[in-house]
Amino acid sequence: MTKYYEARSRLVDRLIKEGILRTGRYIEAMSKVPRHLFVWPGYEDYAYMDNALPLGDTGQTISAPHMCAYMLEALKPMPGDYILEIGSGSGYQAALLAEAVAPAKEKNNMWGHVLSLEIVNELVEFARKNISRAGYSDKIIILHKDGTVGYPPYYKKEIYDKILVTAAAPKIPKMLLHQLKRGGMLVIPVGNLYMQRLMIVEKRRDGSIKAKETLGCMFVPLKGKNGW
Ligand code: SAH
Repeated sequence: MTKYYEARSRLVDRLIKEGILRTGRYIEAMSKVPRHLFVWPGYEDYAYMDNALPLGDTGQTISAPHMCAYMLEALKPMPGDYILEIGSGSGYQAALLAEAVAPAKEKNNMWGHVLSLEIVNELVEFARKNISRAGYSDKIIILHKDGTVGYPPYYKKEIYDKILVTAAAPKIPKMLLHQLKRGGMLVIPVGNLYMQRLMIVEKRRDGSIKAKETLGCMFVPLKGKNGW
C-alpha cells in the first residue's frame, strides 16, 4: 500500500509543478483516490504513471491522470453539486468527482452526488466493482445507458450543476445543454475520431451558452444515438 501511496504523491506533485493541478480540493481528490484500484487487473504497477491505460479488450481506456486533473480544473465541481458523467469506464474520474462534491470533511447532508452513464455492459460491472472496493458506493451511481440523449432520456429540465463527457463527441449533444442548470458547466471533447479540443461550455444565468475551446486531446469515440 505505501508503495502506491508514495507513487501517487509523486504523481500529484508533478501535476502541481506542471501547473495542471492548481486547486486545493482537486489536489486533495487526486491525492486520495487510489487509481491502482481502477486500472485493469495486471496494470496496478502502471497506475501512477501519467498515461492512459487499456481497459482489458473492451477497446476503451482509463484517461491519463493529467487529463483527469485538467478536466477537474475546467469543470470546477463544488461540494453539493449534482454531476452527470458520460463514460464511466473504470469509474476513476467518477471517484475524483465524488471527492470534490462530497468530501469527507463536509457534513453528509451537504454532499452532492455523481451519476455516471456507461454504454458498455462489461464496464458498468467493472466500474461498479471498483467504486465499491474504493469506498464510493454511497456517492456514485453507475447506469448502463447511452448518455448522448441525456438522463432521464430526452428529459428537457435543467437538473445537473455540471456535466462531464469523457469520450470524443462529433458535436455537443443538445439534450446535455437542456439538462444543464443555469450557472452550470459542461466539459466535453469535441472533434473527429483522431483529435479533439476540450470544450468548456457555460450556461449563463439568462440561459445563453458560452463555449470556449481549450487544449487538444485524444479520447475514445462517444457512441450512441448522438455519437459516432
Ligand atoms: N471516465 C473514464 C474513462 C472513460 S473512456 C475513466 O475514468 O476511466 C470513455 C468511456 O465512454 C468508455 O468506457 C465508453 O464505453 C464510454 N461511452 C462511449 N459512448 C458512450 C455513451 N454514448 N454513453 C455512455 N458511455 C459511453
